Amino acid sequence: MKVFIMSDMEGISGIMRWSQVNGGEPLYEEGRRLYTEEINAAVRGAKAAGATEIVVMDCHGAGGDWSFNSLIPELLDADCEFVVQREWTEYRDFLKEGCDACLLIGMHAMAGAAGGVLSHTVSSQRWQNLWFNDRLVGEVGINASFCGSFGCPVALVTGDTQVCEESAELLGAGLTTVAVKCGLGRQSARNIAPARVRVLIEAAAHKALKNVKGVKPFNPGEPAEIKVEFMTTEAAVPFARKHGVESINPRLVVSRAKTWLEAWDQLYF
Ligand SMILES: [Zn+2]
Repeated sequence: MKVFIMSDMEGISGIMRWSQVNGGEPLYEEGRRLYTEEINAAVRGAKAAGATEIVVMDCHGAGGDWSFNSLIPELLDADCEFVVQREWTEYRDFLKEGCDACLLIGMHAMAGAAGGVLSHTVSSQRWQNLWFNDRLVGEVGINASFCGSFGCPVALVTGDTQVCEESAELLGAGLTTVAVKCGLGRQSARNIAPARVRVLIEAAAHKALKNVKGVKPFNPGEPAEIKVEFMTTEAAVPFARKHGVESINPRLVVSRAKTWLEAWDQLYF
């Protein structure tokens, strides 16, 4: 069994502040350790479920050379490989080979979610709202659509209570979730202690992968339409100029294509 782990930092237990997720800031090194240990818990759970190949891909933009490079290599479980990419959703070889399931670890809720810890969609400074075929989505929607494009289902989502609810609504009842904290605001939460969270994630990854047939690869619909509302008109300009992307108004662009992946590629790359 091949298992892909896509991960983000904002949905880790003990992480509530931007300085824990931005490279070079005082609390970042603590954030990285908490992050890496939750990934290790998911790797252990995957191994227990029979995974023979586990690839971890950090999807957190920490800034500069820390972007997509926040895991601490020397702390990682010996039985996984990890990808450091330049751009989010750039690395696809493992998915193309055929993955049995993806685990989304450390997710955060979409921009504007009530109480969602460090909630945002793609960019906390530039992106306001994102729709796939008129459905409002966040980053779980992006990751699930990305995996779904290669026939890979998402079996587990971990993060705050808010993102767990968002994910179950989007991906259905077959999804396993672990709420590692309950958001009380964008920078505050009631957390389950990391030591306990790791036990929960390990067990949930194991269980989710044993029941992987209960979840289907996610497809937001075809033909695909991806719409982005930006916070400012300047933020929209570079996207509106891309081939295949149309401007609806100065802050709103749409990318249309046959499949979600084509629409995403013409918008994002
Ligand atoms: Zn992130």
